[in-house]
Amino acid sequence: MEIISVDGIVVNGTPFKENSKIINILTKDHGVIGCISKGCKKLKSKLRLPSENFAYGTFHLYYKENGLSTLIDGDIKNYFINIKNDIIKLSYLSYLCELSYNVFKESESDEIFPLLESALLKIEDGLDPKIITNIIETQYLKYLGISLNLDECVKCGSTKVVTLSIDKGGYICSNCRTNEPIIDEKVLKLMRLYNYVDISKITNLDIDKNVSGKINEIINTYYDEYSGVFIKSKKMLKDLIN
Ligand SMILES: [Zn+2]
Repeated sequence: MEIISVDGIVVNGTPFKENSKIINILTKDHGVIGCISKGCKKLKSKLRLPSENFAYGTFHLYYKENGLSTLIDGDIKNYFINIKNDIIKLSYLSYLCELSYNVFKESESDEIFPLLESALLKIEDGLDPKIITNIIETQYLKYLGISLNLDECVKCGSTKVVTLSIDKGGYICSNCRTNEPIIDEKVLKLMRLYNYVDISKITNLDIDKNVSGKINEIINTYYDEYSGVFIKSKKMLKDLIN
């Protein structure tokens, strides 16, 4: 076993024996690391905070590529205080961690952690959690193998698009449109932006509520119908918001 230090976030954990836990850390370079955190439930344990759900920082561990690693220590980078003080934001945190864990399992992509990291930091900084979540959900589609074509009409390649069809997988132009309702141009343009924006560079989200609401509706429908990813915390989030 070698000792490594990795940046990551604890995406879930289960109690183990009396005072310990087994945690899953989504990391930057090593995928999801399953890790035993011995004695972390003791009040004075230095592993207590780094072993909590959503702990985000640098983890030092005895690394075992196939099998359980062992947590030695952790330095928290950001406690997400603002998020944890707000039940709605906390629900988004929980949902995003669960979603990211599932998307990683589908894709094994090392791009998942940086996306999650920048999304959480933006929510902590006060940006609208619903919009940030919709952006990351849009960007995750390609890792789930169900990207939407948000560049041109999926049928003919025209860029004069008038709607978006979930069944057909993207934008549709007026010539190719059959029975799909027309969608506001602002919604169409913004969805494309959601797909390509670098989350870490967003500084403000001045978006009309009707427009962002419509996008939220489209993304939710798409995830429900096509992602195949069942997310417990998504239901909780929906119940909380409605
Ligand atoms: Zn067309």
